Amino acid sequence: MSKYKAVIGLEMHCEMQSNAKVFSKARNSYNDVPNDNISALDMGFPGTLPTVNKECVKKALLMSMVLNCKQPEYIYFDRKNYYYPDLPKGYQITQMHDPVGVNGHITIDVNGQDKEVLIHDIHLEEDSASLDHYGDISLIDYNRSGVPLLELVTEPCFNSAEEAVAFLEYMRRVYQYCNVSEADTKKGQIRCDVNVSIMNPEDTELGTKVEIKNVNSFQNVALAINYEIERQSALKDAGRYEEVEQETRRFDEESGTTKRMRSKVDAIDYKYFVEPNIPKYKVDPNWLEEIRKEIPVLPRERKLKYINEYGLSLYDANIIIKEKDMADYFEKCVSLGMNAKTASNWLISQISGYLSKNGLSIKDFYLTPELLNQIISELEKGIISSKQAKEIFNKSLEEEKEPKNYITKDNAQISDKDELTNLIQNILNNNPSQIEAYHNGKSNLFDYFVGQVMKETRGKANPTMVKEILKNLLG
Ligand code: ADP
Ligand code: MG
Repeated sequence: MSKYKAVIGLEMHCEMQSNAKVFSKARNSYNDVPNDNISALDMGFPGTLPTVNKECVKKALLMSMVLNCKQPEYIYFDRKNYYYPDLPKGYQITQMHDPVGVNGHITIDVNGQDKEVLIHDIHLEEDSASLDHYGDISLIDYNRSGVPLLELVTEPCFNSAEEAVAFLEYMRRVYQYCNVSEADTKKGQIRCDVNVSIMNPEDTELGTKVEIKNVNSFQNVALAINYEIERQSALKDAGRYEEVEQETRRFDEESGTTKRMRSKVDAIDYKYFVEPNIPKYKVDPNWLEEIRKEIPVLPRERKLKYINEYGLSLYDANIIIKEKDMADYFEKCVSLGMNAKTASNWLISQISGYLSKNGLSIKDFYLTPELLNQIISELEKGIISSKQAKEIFNKSLEEEKEPKNYITKDNAQISDKDELTNLIQNILNNNPSQIEAYHNGKSNLFDYFVGQVMKETRGKANPTMVKEILKNLLG
């Protein structure tokens, strides 16, 4: 632990899913074939004009609301001018003056502790093309050019790598819950810039920040932050704090360190100006209200509900909310009348086990909540045993037939009280000497009687009921 206080601010870029790119009609899909989803606009041909994709604006506004930001009165865009081979127009269309959201906040959970994260702004922009480098040649792929990108900028409100990563993890989930993005880091859909500084805990002014660009995984975000805290602390300890410069660094995966790219002092001037090819338009408050209605219940709220209303443990609730489809499945089970804990146990053990073994997602799972309920309701009524329930579960998946086909009179558990009482009375009548021994203190004969009932019914008697009835009859 460093004796200094670490201060971290994040810039999180997230590629959105949408029917088309943000300013052209080209497909917005993750594609391994280079230069397949492109239009003339995405290649920066002269004379092409952008048209704003309403779906992208809508999703951006929805995220702005989720983050409790203030929405603008007008939507318009700005040009950020710079040259790079992956940016054929020579500028990026982004939002700088009046983004879709400003001054927000969202509460997250860091190790069971609430943490309020302050959002500086969230803005809508276009992604650049991507370059692939092969020895001394580079190839350009325009598929990514014009893919809608949301950039979320936090205030410098995190004090550890753990907090920063908890936020990123939570936001990834929120993007998925809101259908705004698949938020798949492996597909490069989430990329972060990480700003880190240190200060003496008693100081009021923040230290000099260093920006680490384009970190591509959450694990690397944590490594980069911890490395930077150590590097800056060592300089401060050695009385060389002035060497911490406002600079841009990058995370080097091989060495696990950050490396200097350039000083912020000679940062490029982007000469921002309002994008003249996109007319400014007024946001209709009714439209905003419609969007607000589409905000789904977020993972944090769902988790609290599962714990407080359904009595799940924090651990189980966390597993279930990890994926929206899983949480939806769980809620459907509860709405069908299943006991919440039973549903959660089945989801976490049987179902998750089956899914991971077969590389399936719950969306492709044959047993819908309704079909699962055929098993669980019989189990809860005591008609089948839990061992039988598991067998029926497996059989039904194996043969893709409804579970009710396997719940026959033949394999059903005997839970009829009168039937069991008669049966047990008969057994007792045939064992007078054992009863006497039992009453004289051989209490382990109780299990002998249970065994006799099971033998008689070939294991189908409901064991809980058998014990209850036996206790009564034996007095
Ligand atoms: P810049 O002008 O360099 O882009 P901003 O003030 O816009 O800087 O902030 C960019 C990011 O850096 C934000 O995420 C912000 O929270 C973070 N940040 C700003 N100051 C600090 C600091 N002293 N330490 C850590 N992060 C900071
Ligand atoms: Mg910035």
